[in-house]
Amino acid sequence: MPSIALADQWRRVRSRLQAELGEATFNSWFKQVELVGVDDGRVALAVPTRFIRNWIASHYADRLGELWADEDSGYARVDIAVSADAAAPRRSDAAPECAEAAPLRAAEVRGAVAAPVTQPMPQGFEDAGVGAPLDPRFTFDAFIVGKSNELAHAAARRVAEATDVTFNPLFLYGGVGLGKTHLMHAIAWEIRKRDPERKVLYLSAEKFMYQFVRALRFKDTMAFKQQFRSVDVLMIDDVQFISGKDSTQEEFFHTFNALIDHNRQVIISADRSPSDLEGIEERIRSRLGWGLAADIHPTDYELRLGILQAKADEMMQRNGPVAIPGGVLEFLAHRIVSNVRELEGALKRVVAYASLVGRPITPEMTQEVLRDLLRSNDRKVTIEEIQRRVAEYYNVRLADMLSARRARAVARPRQVAMYLSKQLTTRSLPEIGRKFGGRDHTTVIHAVRKIDELRQADSGIEEDVDLLRRMLEGGHSPN
Ligand code: ADP
Ligand code: MG
Repeated sequence: MPSIALADQWRRVRSRLQAELGEATFNSWFKQVELVGVDDGRVALAVPTRFIRNWIASHYADRLGELWADEDSGYARVDIAVSADAAAPRRSDAAPECAEAAPLRAAEVRGAVAAPVTQPMPQGFEDAGVGAPLDPRFTFDAFIVGKSNELAHAAARRVAEATDVTFNPLFLYGGVGLGKTHLMHAIAWEIRKRDPERKVLYLSAEKFMYQFVRALRFKDTMAFKQQFRSVDVLMIDDVQFISGKDSTQEEFFHTFNALIDHNRQVIISADRSPSDLEGIEERIRSRLGWGLAADIHPTDYELRLGILQAKADEMMQRNGPVAIPGGVLEFLAHRIVSNVRELEGALKRVVAYASLVGRPITPEMTQEVLRDLLRSNDRKVTIEEIQRRVAEYYNVRLADMLSARRARAVARPRQVAMYLSKQLTTRSLPEIGRKFGGRDHTTVIHAVRKIDELRQADSGIEEDVDLLRRMLEGGHSPN
């Protein structure tokens, strides 16, 4: 039994952690941590599962050490053990405790029945080895909503919060890295939190296929069918992967129909809409579109900035303060338009670089560190695309972008297009001039200045330019 002084120290360590991590994260990981005692400068803590132990050890070990050392410089080490009594099987331990290790092997040794998952959040467990682990970071709280994803987000929330089945199936689709998997995991976490008795099974279409092929090989298809059909909520991610695989499609379709007929919720994601899923049978495609198909569009600037701010906050909660000067996040939001995964990666890279090399983060340093990434993002908007969009927008002919006509009605849109070409591509002024019917670079300079001036003076132009920029940044393929 820890002494009173020690218990006080532990209380302070916990409350500092809680302040640093925020309530939700703290509760996820530290709520069940117990202080065992201190022996010879070593602080012994106990946690209920190996998963939590591994997670704390890999994410919070240093910080825990520091906080204890603040209490008493004699505390040299923190040991975390899985507590013995918690390790004894409880009802809720029916689901295997799977850290990162060998999920497929777990699937093989385990019986075929999907056990109800009643463990407290968050565990990276699998449902009896059938499903895939959920990422504890992918929650609704951590999902930033903007115009491009508001429908998908609202539908996901509705499905997660409803006790009856509203849209069946919910079909989420959109390009790579735009948050489909994040939303699916968020639904799963939310349902588990609200009603741990409901059986939620999340897995990728690839894993579904793998399980099915395995069942065929081991002549175990009855059990296979049984385990999928006994769930309350089935989520299959990246369903485009089963295209062309006829027997898997067939099985998927039967499973899908059986669940829908029994009023169980099905949630599917894909990189394209149901009707665009080539290589998937027509009857399946049409059935996939029966519920609600919600698409996630490429992000716009505001959403990207919002996401960056949230990620930066989260990083600071985890790793301590990082000085990110004004303008850097804006710069990233402006230039990394491909997808959220890259955006996140860019921020992490800048922060990691700064801390490893010991250099402050500045806009220049950011450009330098991300040179390659920025270049590949730049290639996305072409001058031709800009000309096409601008012509469309102002209702002038595309040929007028290149023509020598000087009437205001065509000259102004042309200037806007030049201006946007300068802003959104890395083309040089002479290159831009050439693309606009072989004009001189001074004409481009003039156009850029003119539009800059007009933007200050005329809110109409300001709005046009802004809209066009957003459309162009959001409009290209998110790969
Ligand atoms: P997808 O499954 O569509 O390819 P993911 O769900 O894996 O994309 O998302 C890629 C990364 O971007 C993840 O780290 C995810 O948390 C993050 N992400 C995507 N959209 C958002 C959002 N709206 N808010 C916060 N993070 C997001
Ligand atoms: Mg995904």
